[in-house]
Amino acid sequence: MPTCRNLIIAIDGPAGSGKSTVGRKVAEHLGYFYVDTGAMYRAAAWKALQMKTPLDDAAAMTKLVRDTQMRLACDHQQFQISIDGVDVTRAIRAPEVSEASSRISTIAPVRRELVAQQQLLGKDGGVVMEGRDIGTVVFPDADVKIFLDATPEARGERRYNEDVHSGKPASRELTIEAVRGRDQRDASREASPMMPAPDAAYIDTTRLTIDQVVEKILALVAVARGTSSSK
Ligand code: C5P
Repeated sequence: MPTCRNLIIAIDGPAGSGKSTVGRKVAEHLGYFYVDTGAMYRAAAWKALQMKTPLDDAAAMTKLVRDTQMRLACDHQQFQISIDGVDVTRAIRAPEVSEASSRISTIAPVRRELVAQQQLLGKDGGVVMEGRDIGTVVFPDADVKIFLDATPEARGERRYNEDVHSGKPASRELTIEAVRGRDQRDASREASPMMPAPDAAYIDTTRLTIDQVVEKILALVAVARGTSSSK
């Protein structure tokens, strides 16, 4: 029997696979809350850079995350994040913050702190949450799990175009190289490495439009709604 229960939708995948754009659209379509967990790692990294906290000091980084108030909002596909009352939505997209977020995300206690916050944000369902470990660690029982992927060239090219579009000076080669470097670190770290959950639907977005990916995900959501009443 179909159910109207609010679902948890987990979207994982590497940088530039389309998670954010697709996630925001899916969330808006369903009237769900959208959570970009990468923005949380970025916000913590931004604060560490501001406070000159050494990025590899696990104890100091964990304390920093514990002592930080993060607020997330999403309205009409516009995602916003503030920390300690400061809006950092744009600031966290700087290349040095991308690099720093990738480094601090290898620290297991930092991950534990942020994962606990993410679990709290999604506990009542009605959420589309995207990141690297949502279907494996944050919500291993999510109703719908998606792993988005694309070739490294396509992902680097997308990031490059985003940077150009938002007026940031960018080099195609350096952007592709930076994306590769972060993917490599995300996939090989000991703490919650990025990988598809065994029960995730794998979607290669290289040759798909955003709307085609959104449609595929909404179809999976419809199936989950139709079959999840026994849960
Ligand atoms: O998604 P985004 O590229 O903005 O994430 C920034 C960094 O945060 C990633 O490179 C990754 O290292 C880390 N991250 C993570 N786990 C998540 C989300 C992001 O390790 N769930």
